[in-house]
Amino acid sequence: MSPRIVILGGGVIGSAIAYFVCRDPAFRGEVTVIERDPTYREASSALSVNSIRQQFSTAVNIEISRFAIGFLREAHARLAVDGKSPTLDLVEPGYLFLATHAGVDVLERNHALQRTLGADIALLETPSLRARFPWLSVHDIAAGALGLSGEGWLDGYGLLQAFRSKALSLGARYINAEAICFSTSGRRVTSVALADGSEIGCDIAVNAAGPWAAAVARWIGVDLPVRARKRSVFVFTCPTPLEPRDAVPLVVDPSGVWFRPEGHDRFLGGVSPDAGEDPDDLPLEPDLELFEEIVWPTLAARVPAFEALRRTRAWAGYYDFNTLDQNAILGLHPEWENVFFANGFSGHGMQQSPAVGRGIAELVLHGGYRTLDLTPLGFDRVIADRPFVEMNVI
Ligand SMILES: Cc1cc2nc3c(=O)[nH]c(=O)nc-3n(C[C@H](O)[C@H](O)[C@H](O)COP(=O)(O)OP(=O)(O)OC[C@H]3O[C@@H](n4cnc5c(N)ncnc54)[C@H](O)[C@@H]3O)c2cc1C
Repeated sequence: MSPRIVILGGGVIGSAIAYFVCRDPAFRGEVTVIERDPTYREASSALSVNSIRQQFSTAVNIEISRFAIGFLREAHARLAVDGKSPTLDLVEPGYLFLATHAGVDVLERNHALQRTLGADIALLETPSLRARFPWLSVHDIAAGALGLSGEGWLDGYGLLQAFRSKALSLGARYINAEAICFSTSGRRVTSVALADGSEIGCDIAVNAAGPWAAAVARWIGVDLPVRARKRSVFVFTCPTPLEPRDAVPLVVDPSGVWFRPEGHDRFLGGVSPDAGEDPDDLPLEPDLELFEEIVWPTLAARVPAFEALRRTRAWAGYYDFNTLDQNAILGLHPEWENVFFANGFSGHGMQQSPAVGRGIAELVLHGGYRTLDLTPLGFDRVIADRPFVEMNVI
């Protein structure tokens, strides 16, 4: 096996793929990652909330997270370079999905599937929620699903850098350049042209261009339903600590507004805008009105102590938003023999990077998935316009 593999985009997804390809003992080829901005200023991987959960509604997404948490717990060893281990600061206080009476059926259905697949999730009724989280207002809540382990958050930028460093140590090459188009022969891509006029020949191309993946797909006439959709993240403090501090989970309100602790005395929070108010490619200015009008009032109703919160900072990044079904699009496009896609993660790509890196490496090197079957996330449903629905998209 000695293909020349070119990966477009060196974010967490492109770097995870580079790592998993290079670590395959049978691999004798070359991996080149083309990344136009090594500072990752606008990359999703640098602007993420970096949380991981098992609480999805589809088996494949749950299995992806099952693998991810195991991988992340061992990342200090797996991604160590020259005896130096990355610190990813993984913590596992859980996610708490809250449901009103209207949402309980879905919560219970998801919980049953998650349990079947081995996820450590507890379904809590209102009195248990009140006892466990005395700072939470639950008057309108019928139940909550709490991750007892396997859910939490980490240093996502650290994970990107750890994949990148490990891939480099295993022989991958990173090029600081902008890719501008493909050359093709029949149904194959033969090279990638760079903005400086040079070309890189390849046997395999991988589109890992994050929110910009649709532009790369257009070079070969593929209509990829992935758009750059802005998401704002608000940082705030609260004069009254929520106790016990290290047991405060990432809380998802039935409205979709979420918050979680960040470090010792800060919180992050946000919400996705309504579908009708979510245009593509907005400048990355955080939407402060969204905070004032939606996020803060909802947070204060859910956690009375947040009435007195103080917003200290905010940022915005792009979701690589799959407009069909907000799920990843993985693998070959049927019209192209050697172009692989790993796009459209829609807000859950950080946690999916280990399983996606491993899966795409298997496809590229062995022609099929060998561990976890990621076929439900393939191109077929996109071409058939048949959404693969995931209920838990935040
Ligand atoms: C606010 C926010 C919160 C999030 N929260 C979570 C979360 O809690 N949990 C979770 O799992 N996920 C979360 N995500 C999603 C997650 O961060 C992304 O899905 C993931 O980082 C995508 O990684 P990527 O490598 O595909 O994309 P990116 O990190 O964007 O990397 C793509 C790279 O491709 C490069 N590139 C593009 N085009 C070209 C070109 N033509 N030539 C050269 N280089 C190119 C770009 O410079 C970029 O660095 C969140 C995202 C955002 C924005």
